Formats: sequence, C-alpha cells, structure tokens
Amino acid sequence: MFKKLKEFEFKISAYQLALSTMNYDAVTVAPKLSGEYRNERMSFLSGEMFKIMQSKEFSDLIYELDKQSLSLSERRIIDLYKKNLDDLKNITQEEFVEARKLSLDAFTAWEKAREKNDYSIFEPFLIKNIETITSFVKKRNNGLSVYQNLLNDFEEGMSLEQFDAFFQKIKDELVPFIKEIHSRPQINDALDNKTFSIESQKAFTNDLLDYLRYDNTFGHCSVSTHPFSSRLSQNDTRITTRYDEKHLAGNIFSVIHEVGHAMYEHQIKDEYADTMIHDSYTYGMHESQSRLFENCLGRSRAFWEYNYPRLQNRFEQLKDVSLDAFLQAVNRSEVSFIRTEADELTYPIHVLIRYEIEKEIFSGQADLKDLRNIWNQKIKEYLGIDVKDDLTGILQDVHWTEYSSFGYFPTYAIGSAYAAQIYNTMKKEIPVDEYLSSNQFEKVNAWLKENIHQHGALYTPNEILKRVTGETFNPDYYIQYLKEKYSYYYGKTTD
Ligand code: ZN
Repeated sequence: MFKKLKEFEFKISAYQLALSTMNYDAVTVAPKLSGEYRNERMSFLSGEMFKIMQSKEFSDLIYELDKQSLSLSERRIIDLYKKNLDDLKNITQEEFVEARKLSLDAFTAWEKAREKNDYSIFEPFLIKNIETITSFVKKRNNGLSVYQNLLNDFEEGMSLEQFDAFFQKIKDELVPFIKEIHSRPQINDALDNKTFSIESQKAFTNDLLDYLRYDNTFGHCSVSTHPFSSRLSQNDTRITTRYDEKHLAGNIFSVIHEVGHAMYEHQIKDEYADTMIHDSYTYGMHESQSRLFENCLGRSRAFWEYNYPRLQNRFEQLKDVSLDAFLQAVNRSEVSFIRTEADELTYPIHVLIRYEIEKEIFSGQADLKDLRNIWNQKIKEYLGIDVKDDLTGILQDVHWTEYSSFGYFPTYAIGSAYAAQIYNTMKKEIPVDEYLSSNQFEKVNAWLKENIHQHGALYTPNEILKRVTGETFNPDYYIQYLKEKYSYYYGKTTD
C-alpha cells in the first residue's frame, strides 16, 4: 500500500518540480512580457496538483494506511498527511476558492494602499482576512484556541505558553538591554560611504560559496529583487542574492543566509526526499538554519579570520580597513522602523510587536478598527520612535494580505532563538572556530547533517532540540548569546 502512496508522491513531485522551476525562472531571468502566459499555466498546474491531493482516492488511501502498523517514518508521513486533510475537511470548495480570491484582492489593495501611503485602503481587506481565517480555524473543532492553531500551522508542537514565555523574555530582558546599548557611543561603520563594484561582489560570492561547500553539483546562485532559496529537488537547491554597489554587506549576508536554507534541504536522508518529511519542515526550524549560518557563524570573528583577507583581495578600498573595524561594521545595532532592515539585536523586537498584535486580534481583545494605532503605540513603547507614516508602519509587510499567514511572524524570532540554542551545543561538540578559521566548513555541514538536516521533519522542533541539545526549546541561550555579543561590541561588561 505504501507503493501506491509512492506513486501519488511521484506525481505530486512532478508538478512541484515544474512549478518551482517555473517560479525560479520567473523571478530571475524570465522576460517581462512572459508573465501572463506563464501565470495561466502555473495556475492550471497548481489546480491539477490540488485535485490529486484532494481526491477521494488519495484520502481513502491515507485513512486506510492510518489503520496499519507502520514504521516510525511511515507513521510520521501518514500523520502529516492526515493533519492536512483534517484541517480542510469542513471547508467547502466554494469557501476555499472565495478565500483565495479575497487574498488576491487584499494583495492588490495593499499595493494600492502602499502607493498612496494610506492604510485605510487596505484596512477592510485585513479585517475580512481575519474573519475568514477565524471561521476556518473554528471549523477544525480540535479544542485549541484560534491563535494556537495558527501558530502550529507554522511551528508544529510549540505551545502558546512556550511562545508567551519566549516573548516575555524578550520584553523583560532584551528591551531594556537594547536601550542600554543604544545609550552608548555608536561604533564606526567602516563600510559606509564606499562603493563596491558588482563584478567584484560577484567574484566574492563565488569565494563564499566555495568556502561554504555549496557547489554546482547541487546548487546554483542567481539574482532576484528579494533573495530567497528554493528546493527544486534534494539535489537541486537553488538560491538568489541581490547586488547593490553601495551595500556590500547586503549581498554577503543574503548569500550566507540562503545557503543555510539550501543546505538544510540538500542534506536530508535520501529515503525521505519527496515525502511529507521533506515537505513539512517548520518555518522556525528552517529559519534557524539560515540564521545560524548568517549570524552565529557568518558574523563571527573566526569566519572572517579566513574570509576577510580574501574580501580585501577583491576590494582595494578595504586594504586599510582592519578586521576589527570590518567586524564592528557588520555587527552594529541601530533602531529602525522596518523589520527586514533591522539588525540582529533589534530584529526580535519587531517580531514581538507583531506577535502581541496578532494575539490581541485572535483573543478578541483588539478593536479591529484600531490596529494602526495599536501598531504605532507599540513601536513607540518598545523602540522609542514615532511612526511617521503607514509605509514605514503597518503597511510594511506583505504577510497579512494572505488570510492563512497569521501566525507566521513569530517563527522568524523563534528561528534565531533555536539557532542560538543549537550553536551553543555545536560549540561544545566540535571546535567550530577552528574549522571556520581554517577553511573546513564541510565539518560544520557534516555536524548539521548528522544532528539535524538528515532527519528532515521526522521530529518536531521541540523533539529535535531535545535530541541535539538535551532540552526542549529554551530561550535563555538566545538572550545570553545576544547580550554577550553586543556587550562585547559596545564595551559593556555582562551582568
Ligand atoms: Zn530565511
């Protein structure tokens, strides 16, 4: 019977491969006029794939397999399929299509609102999105609150209490720590006011990819407006980056971040490729791998002890900039309005604000007509700045245009926190700094493969953390990591 499931999975993977190849092509090299033709074909293929996965034949097979005695990984695969089927069970095809259309309209309204810098254009759609997802989730009848359901759609097995405890820590410990750090003299930005040719940046991208052991036997790096990674298959995990003459660090850290995602997808055990175990990574675990690469490893001294001389070789203008000055430049912290531009230290505050707002929305505490005010007040409270307009305020993120994306934001911060917890254990088990400073990154990849990557989504995040670090999610490692790092750069002794 699992043979029958394999046939389904083969078919589904064929559609997925076609769709992700077309998407990667669309955002990297496809000519402008090709969009409409391709979009129609892509919708058709998505529809066909959806039909297979929603067919009676398929759900009968899953519920039949559910009754059999299964191995650990088979059981996991069936449970994951069953959750998908159960969540959608009480939603009619019409309701589903209507919700999809609502999100497309909401996206259009959001774009228009951004153009006019006027939240009121988007507001009615946002409220409709909230009402839609609330009614959908209530139909699951699983005894969990709406927001707990939404959180688990992105982060399986993490309880509302765990999220609450995590964000409470950020509020109690990080918010005052950041105020203290920002009251100190700002450190220099040695990269400011310099330009870096795109050609040399591309050459350095290749240096970095070599160093990270992300090679063209399974990877490829292209250019797009927003950097991302995409799994076409286990042995085809592609990334993109973006180049800006004025912003060298932007490219460097995008590349390191996306390779973190790509390695996670590539290093899964062969037998899990194309199964639900490969398709069900949680957003937080995925982000933990990219943030581990980008921040814990990629912004460390050991990493640049090897790579900085190579960077200087590519750029004459860095000849007189010391390694210390470079490290300061890429580890500065400054308050800002935009989440995606925030530094490593202030980033979780942006997520805390979104978490609190979503929680108030779905507990019925927030007046939905007052969300802009709530947003602006929280920015003032936690970051100490006054939001000037909607573009740099409540209209900045695309997420809430999609009715099913509430509960997504918290995974960004939780990913960084998992990364710090994993990094703490990794440093105890292998000489990370020695490997980084002597060009042995393959040994870091091997540790990650052995401990995390090979398993895919066989385990939930709490289970993986328990196996690797000896305890379930513990936010203390993250707080400690940030405090130590920024106390060092801003010359403060840790307490
Ligand atoms: Zn990412």
